[in-house]
Amino acid sequence: MSTKADSAAREEVVLKGIPASQGIAIGPVFLIHKMDPVIEERSILPEEVGREISRLEQAIARSHKELRKILDFAEKKLSDDKIKIFEAQLMILEDSVLFDSIYGRIRNELKNAEFVVHDEIGKYHRVMLASKDEYTRERAHDVEDVRNRILRNLQEQKLISRLEGSSVIVSYNLTAADALILSRNEVLGYATDIGGVTSHTALVSRALKIPAVVGLRNVSHVVHDADRVILDGYAGRLILNPSAESIKRYEAKRERYHEFEARLAGLRDLPAETLDGRRVDLSANVEFEQELEFIKIQGADGIGLYRSEYLLVGKEVFPSEEEQFEHYKVLAETMYPKRVIIRTFDVGGDKVMMEPVREGNPFLGWRGIRVMLDKPDIFIEQLRAILRASTKKNVSVMFPMISTIEEVRHAKKFLEEAKHQLRNEGVPYDPRIKVGVMIEVPSAAVMAEDMAEEVTFLSVGTNDLIQYLLAVDRGNDIVSDLYQEFHPAVIRFLRRIVERGKKKNAWVGMCGEMAGDPLATILLLGLGLDEFSVVPNVLPEIKKIIRSVKYKEAQRITKRVLTMQTAGEVRTYLKKVMKKKFPDIPID
Ligand code: PEP
Ligand code: MG
Repeated sequence: MSTKADSAAREEVVLKGIPASQGIAIGPVFLIHKMDPVIEERSILPEEVGREISRLEQAIARSHKELRKILDFAEKKLSDDKIKIFEAQLMILEDSVLFDSIYGRIRNELKNAEFVVHDEIGKYHRVMLASKDEYTRERAHDVEDVRNRILRNLQEQKLISRLEGSSVIVSYNLTAADALILSRNEVLGYATDIGGVTSHTALVSRALKIPAVVGLRNVSHVVHDADRVILDGYAGRLILNPSAESIKRYEAKRERYHEFEARLAGLRDLPAETLDGRRVDLSANVEFEQELEFIKIQGADGIGLYRSEYLLVGKEVFPSEEEQFEHYKVLAETMYPKRVIIRTFDVGGDKVMMEPVREGNPFLGWRGIRVMLDKPDIFIEQLRAILRASTKKNVSVMFPMISTIEEVRHAKKFLEEAKHQLRNEGVPYDPRIKVGVMIEVPSAAVMAEDMAEEVTFLSVGTNDLIQYLLAVDRGNDIVSDLYQEFHPAVIRFLRRIVERGKKKNAWVGMCGEMAGDPLATILLLGLGLDEFSVVPNVLPEIKKIIRSVKYKEAQRITKRVLTMQTAGEVRTYLKKVMKKKFPDIPID
């Protein structure tokens, strides 16, 4: 353990991670050592099998009791969707197939319980952890948590759940259960080496309103117990041994954010409307049902993009119509009467893919609508599920990765076929369900006017549109400087899409990340966008900007931006505008 004097002598170190839950914490570290348990492989005698099995039964019973307690606590603290994390862990503990095979191996292989449990549950864990997909990797930690809980109980070790004083918890990883149980103490914040925004630490911390930064890589090795740190859950930073000046600066930042957030909270039920009365829709992008409660709190006008491909994560086959219907129904009912735009599976590219395909250039390959048009049965099942969830008339359907008019017509034919089937079966649906396309391929952008004649709405997917327009891979670090949302070509292209789309009476929204960039809000507003669909975190901030400007003024600013020739020029100008109009909105 380091002393305070050591800390003071040490230099300030800034570690960069992923912001998982907003807020700023300043305080001492409490380090939790959560490394993989060391498991010894031991042979046992046939007469020891009974004792080994009874030891395991007791460990399972104790783990069950612990998890039950956690679940009870969760029921008091968290919403239903988050409680499911713990229910799922209990289900693993109650999985008789899994434990029959573990008991069987102890009997047949004559190995100790720790080894067999570690090995057998570890198999699932490894497969999930090797997944390319973040969501599956995160769920792997739940399996690991159950395994480690049983192992800890087999080794009769105690669980750390009581802390002295208030501290910032630092650990290699924290499970949802850890985060929840530790929160009974005065926890200032959570910082972990691994994890992403969808990790359970992130979900639970957000629900408990405790600042958290995940994915800090090696923070648990760099800090010591009682080290002083600042945890910035807005920017995703941990500052070790902060100087007095940094502490002062962050205290001021915390104060500023508190005031800002208090003011933002008052905006929740107000419309996203400019000072001179132009109303736009401000919706949220959603990947998981667990986010619904949060987006409602944030005051979303609806869901502008539901990325349905997240239902495929961790699956080997496409989910059935029934399974999909259950999910879509939850979205539609929870958000009612607000609108929910369900995007059909956008598989391929860098996303989940249900079958191995070798492609030299997956982003230009078999992706999105191209895959679905080649799989009519699966496409129709998804469309039927969406239609069945549309009875309250608040669901729209959207097609991704459209590059030709034929694709739109073809996809619409499938939708008609799905409707026809349901009609014949007497199954209710919204016959006037609205159809939209994503504008994320330059050819679709050029054809915006024609696209608008085919559908009710267009939604610009800038994440892909920028990469295809500028020939810059959105996931490639080497060329990330060239991935410029403020490139004048992007802005001029956007103007064209909005103008041409609206000329044919389409409603034009944007669901790419650019819609959630506060620096871009006035510009996009001035372009005439009808809807902004953004990551839930930034929603109040974007609403505040929209409510603080005149549409006329935004149009004037946009007109000026449209004369500029470099992204640098645009950024500098917009930053100047923002500084003047919104000095309290932090723009990086
Ligand atoms: C986009 O491309 O902008 C978009 C919203 O889709 P995704 O990020 O899911 O590809
Ligand atoms: Mg896209």
